[in-house]
Amino acid sequence: MTNRTLASPGLLERLAVGPVICAEGYLFELERRGYIQAGAFVPEVVLEHPEKVYELHREFVHAGSDVVEAFTYYGHREKLRVIGKEELLEPLNRNALNIAAEVADESGTLLAGNICNTNIWVPEDKNTHAAARGMFEEQVGWAVDAGADMIIGETFCWTDEALVALDVIQASGKPSVITFALDADGLHDGADGVTACKRLADAGADVVGLNCSRGPATMLPVVLDIRAAVDCHVAALPVPYRTTPGHETFQLLEDTSCCCTPSTGSFPTALDPFVCNRYELGEFAKEMFSAGVNYLGICCGAGPHHIRSMAEALGRRPPASRYSPDMSKHAYQGTDDNIPDYYKKLGEMYE
Ligand SMILES: [Zn+2]
Repeated sequence: MTNRTLASPGLLERLAVGPVICAEGYLFELERRGYIQAGAFVPEVVLEHPEKVYELHREFVHAGSDVVEAFTYYGHREKLRVIGKEELLEPLNRNALNIAAEVADESGTLLAGNICNTNIWVPEDKNTHAAARGMFEEQVGWAVDAGADMIIGETFCWTDEALVALDVIQASGKPSVITFALDADGLHDGADGVTACKRLADAGADVVGLNCSRGPATMLPVVLDIRAAVDCHVAALPVPYRTTPGHETFQLLEDTSCCCTPSTGSFPTALDPFVCNRYELGEFAKEMFSAGVNYLGICCGAGPHHIRSMAEALGRRPPASRYSPDMSKHAYQGTDDNIPDYYKKLGEMYE
């Protein structure tokens, strides 16, 4: 147990007066940096290279994230069983929470505990439901011990699994954020995003919505429908990839101009040509917020530049804005008086 003082204002107070930004996507970013293995995607980095996790939390906060989400995604019992390291379960979770707590406290942001899809849920098998509940209870318990300000349950593909997660979060007394990862055809149980979110909202979730899987273009219309269907706060945390009708999720993207990727699709390690630029994420945030969607962020693939752009689009000026682009002093394209006219002239070749 820690005696951490809860952040003030808390999640719900912040949402009452404006948007809340939550950076996600730690798995992809730390995989790219060489500290997580794609495939199992287990965040052992919190034990093996904690300094890298501190660093990324701080980069996202510097860029405008209001939430420091403990990096326990896929750090649950089932994932650790798959890689044969169940003994790391508790130290991994406690370490992740302590790292996130330190960054949240030094920056005045919110500490979020995190639970997610268990990958054991089978609709007709009640034993798996009880096991999933047990997994949520142990992780939420550690988050409560660490003094979390809120709990995020994310990337669910079964409505009923998300309802169990919500139930466990509610029992902890912490504000709840529940988000679904929506495939092209809906969730695994056949529910569409609106129906699933409505059920969670009816069950009392504080924030419901979507995260992961879909890029801005294919997430936005669904979230607008969710916004119209529920009364609680709504979340939208897309992946920063250019998904399209016909390729609604990043798992479906296929780079036909490349023939050297190890699998047929581009997911998860060859998505580079589909990355959205920062301005696209800024536009997404602006459009979502003006429609009443006030819990915004980015999932797998997010970089700090995306988060900063989102923050600026919402009228913020996070510390990283000090380094936002100013092309007036560019050597060729600059307009500043200090740029020699000769070079400005050369710069015309870029126009
Ligand atoms: Zn994701």
